[in-house]
Amino acid sequence: ISEDAWAQALTLLRGADRSIVLACHLNPDGDALGSMLATALGLRQLGIRVQASFSNPFRLPQALAQLAGLELLVRPEEVVTSPDVLVTFDTGSVDRLGDLAPLVAAAAQVIVVDHHVTNSGFGTFNLIDPQAAATAVVVEELLTRLGVRLDAAIAECLYVGLSTDTASFRGAATSPSTHELAARLLATGIRPDEISRRLYDARPMRSLHLLADVLGRVVLEPDVADGAGLSWSYVTQDDLERYGLGMEWVEGVVDMIRGAEESTLAMVAKQTVPGEWSVSLRSRGSVDVGALSVRLGGGGHRFAAGFTGRGPLEDVVASVRAALNDLPVAVTS
Ligand code: 5GP
Ligand code: MN
Ligand code: MN
Repeated sequence: ISEDAWAQALTLLRGADRSIVLACHLNPDGDALGSMLATALGLRQLGIRVQASFSNPFRLPQALAQLAGLELLVRPEEVVTSPDVLVTFDTGSVDRLGDLAPLVAAAAQVIVVDHHVTNSGFGTFNLIDPQAAATAVVVEELLTRLGVRLDAAIAECLYVGLSTDTASFRGAATSPSTHELAARLLATGIRPDEISRRLYDARPMRSLHLLADVLGRVVLEPDVADGAGLSWSYVTQDDLERYGLGMEWVEGVVDMIRGAEESTLAMVAKQTVPGEWSVSLRSRGSVDVGALSVRLGGGGHRFAAGFTGRGPLEDVVASVRAALNDLPVAVTS
């Protein structure tokens, strides 16, 4: 991130009498929501008023429903349509803003705060660090440069982003600086045990039965491309209706399937509406699922990525097999 981009972003945010809208990607995860709310809280501390929102469906998974700063959220319908400044968080491409995507063209200035390698840099000013373990890392630097004091509410939001995107500090992007940031956040008095329980260990009993169904039908394709194995499963709307649950309860299942040593790749296809699948991909190392997903119209990171697949499930799986065989970088190790 260039010093010039930082300087311009600070000037835009500090300017008086401007309408500022903060937006994160649709179906927000801990990094998207945490990064956006930490910024909203930090700016409020400086006396700068903003609107913070995300696309419909305007609801949050239970894991995020008690996050600090939620009171600063407004519904997407209430957001001004042509703000002076739009700031996007954890959003790799304009379409990921969903209903709020038109703001990118309508806003006078756009600041992009992100860590996706695949980010197109659609802002007037881009604060994008592909090395950062989470967008929350970039936000902490932004808030420090703005002179915001790190309080417990801001720290909680940033910790949720950091923990979510590093899979609890297990991911490859976890570095000394990741832990140094975590230490600064914990020093504000926030409780990692309580935050982690809300994020990862609080679910209705019937969601275990749903998980059992999804895990029970995992298929292993041992030799899908150049020796890479693929383990995959799926969740339909019927499954969710059977248990009266939302898709949030199977978000983590792809990370369980990734544990299968016999395969290089894990995939879960989640049916959003008939004929449409939100596909999650995970890599155990040798395949870049971010690159794979870009070929399929999506995006993400080297080890975790996704795309939207259309048509029957079998066609979606076939498209992944085909894209895998097409990848320029051969599967190694
Ligand atoms: P998850 O599998 O946890 O839903 O998503 C993992 C990562 O893949 C996300 O952080 C996001 O970067 C990316 N991703 C997932 N689905 C999509 C999609 O439909 N489009 C794009 N561009 N990226 C996605
Ligand atoms: Mn995200
Ligand atoms: Mn992120």
